[in-house]
Amino acid sequence: MAVYGQSLWLPQTADEAENMAFDWLNKFHKEMVKPENYAEKILAQYRLGMKAKGSIAGVAVVVDEDGCAESQGLDAAAIYHPDDAPHLPLPGCPKGGRCQCVYRPVMTYQSKG
Ligand SMILES: [Zn+2]
Repeated sequence: MAVYGQSLWLPQTADEAENMAFDWLNKFHKEMVKPENYAEKILAQYRLGMKAKGSIAGVAVVVDEDGCAESQGLDAAAIYHPDDAPHLPLPGCPKGGRCQCVYRPVMTYQSKG
């Protein structure tokens, strides 16, 4: 098993150095667009919101119009409990953090519609 420690794995060639820079850039961009803990963070906030004032009825997913097949299969009208909401970005989404699928809180007055 390879160990990718900074002191153990340094680029030996210009190509390798370039690849490492790209790796870093990719990670950076993903983080800028959607942090890895996006789902956990947002869902935790909604969970709190539901407990605190009861004005949040649940969470809906706003689907990326331009998004992957997986996201197109989601029911845009569905209201989830934060515990049951699909994890965003969807595990199989090729766009990963760049997928524009986002959570939207559903307020109680909206869900009673
Ligand atoms: Zn997607």
